Amino acid sequence: MPKAQAAQPLTTPAVSPRLLWTALAVVALMLLLTYLVAFDQGAVSQSGMYLHELMHDGRHLLGVPCH
Ligand SMILES: [Zn+2]
Repeated sequence: MPKAQAAQPLTTPAVSPRLLWTALAVVALMLLLTYLVAFDQGAVSQSGMYLHELMHDGRHLLGVPCH
């Protein structure tokens, strides 16, 4: 007669919570970086036009409307 196996949980998470939160943090940082590179005009970041000028070539490289 086969030996009884230990009870296994019926459901196991497909992704660990730590990996999920890390992935969400990375996505949030990428969205923030995309905003700063592509759309910031200084009003939100309070950087004047410094950030806009810093990212200016990147905007044109990505084809984002600029001026
Ligand atoms: Zn431009």
